[in-house]
Amino acid sequence: MSSAACIFCKIIKGDIPSFKLFENEKVFAFLDIQPLSRGHTLVIPKFHGAKLTDIPDEDLLEILPVAKKIAKASGAEDFNILQNNGAIAHQVVGHVHFHMIPKPNEQEGLTIGWPAQ
Ligand code: C5P
Repeated sequence: MSSAACIFCKIIKGDIPSFKLFENEKVFAFLDIQPLSRGHTLVIPKFHGAKLTDIPDEDLLEILPVAKKIAKASGAEDFNILQNNGAIAHQVVGHVHFHMIPKPNEQEGLTIGWPAQ
């Protein structure tokens, strides 16, 4: 299921370009265009739904293993995962997305491994 008006559905389809990090049958991951830190990544279900409660369990179950794969591949050790639901909770894009926000490496001042956009 996808929504013709949804910006993230357009990114999944390739109608809007993105810096893609991962894709499989159910999940798509790409760099956030306004990163809070280098490597800020969005991991999203391909199933279109605005909130966590709209997404089938079988699609949600694919998300965290992908986040883990991206974290391991990047070599980054410190990062936050955040998922906003609803306007009051600061959700702007109405397609469920999990932010992966790397924390800068203390020695280098940069996140190791994660690609720069
Ligand atoms: O959780 P929230 O809805 O506030 O976050 C939406 C995120 O989607 C923002 O971090 C924004 O930079 C990102 N975004 C993006 N590419 C777009 C539109 C929004 O990476 N084309």
